[in-house]
Amino acid sequence: MTTLIYSHKACLEHDPGSYHPESPDRLRAVLAQLSLPEFAEAERREAPRADLDEVARIHPRPFIEAILGAVPARGHAALDADTVLSPASGEAALRAVGAVCAAVDAVMAGEADNAFCAVRPPGHHAEPDRAMGFCLFNSVAIGAQRARQAHGLERVAVIDFDVHHGNGTQAAFDSEPRLFYASTHQYPLYPGTGGRDETGVGNIVNVPLRPGAGSSEFRRAFNEVILPALDDFRPDFLLISAGFDAHRADPLAQLMLVESDYAWVTEQLAACAARHCEGRLVSSLEGGYDLEALASSAAAHVRALMAA
Ligand SMILES: [Zn+2]
Repeated sequence: MTTLIYSHKACLEHDPGSYHPESPDRLRAVLAQLSLPEFAEAERREAPRADLDEVARIHPRPFIEAILGAVPARGHAALDADTVLSPASGEAALRAVGAVCAAVDAVMAGEADNAFCAVRPPGHHAEPDRAMGFCLFNSVAIGAQRARQAHGLERVAVIDFDVHHGNGTQAAFDSEPRLFYASTHQYPLYPGTGGRDETGVGNIVNVPLRPGAGSSEFRRAFNEVILPALDDFRPDFLLISAGFDAHRADPLAQLMLVESDYAWVTEQLAACAARHCEGRLVSSLEGGYDLEALASSAAAHVRALMAA
């Protein structure tokens, strides 16, 4: 039994522009770190391309076709001020979805204990009918629905420790009591959602953190709020929206986490998965914009997955 790492070269070719923080160098930095000898036992797999029926588990067909139709043959096409397409963007987004779905399948088949998807673009801001915040398709939300619809699982949880609130995942889940979404995030911050009073049908748990909050506030949020709620939910499968932009070095936000916080939260979530669902856990990369902090934090996360 092992940890799988999914990626695809198209995820390096999606390029929103030379001044954009969501750069191919992010994934290059993560993959370089994961190529170190300590990660040699993690099995590498190429992400398949998701077919459109898979994406349609969350996004309406006309939306999917509009996004793929907006991909430029050359140069760039902006969907909004933040969300920019290049010629490889459609392929990258479909490989990111494909990575999470293949990882869910592999873990369900018992081919591995858990998996990390080293992919971009990220997905957690993508609402069912709206791409935004660097995100095109909501890979983790799609993977959650795949676990239920293709594998017959009853309850699936997504935990999101990216510094931004996953408005897209919340929007996809908030009327479905068998899907659970919990997030820690800086507040106020983009995208402006994620207040404590946003609770869906009792299946959404938001813990906003003030700018400057660090390890103790983050761990308290998990120990006192998120982990107890997750235990009450009793997931049959756990997914993680793993953004590393709450690191103290990150230029896009003002939380103060360090690598050991990412190791800690990963250990807690793996232990929760062990309690409820035989350890079934799939994580996918979301944000993280300081290259060095991103790489070392993702390494801490994968190291903890491998030790689970
Ligand atoms: Zn983020």
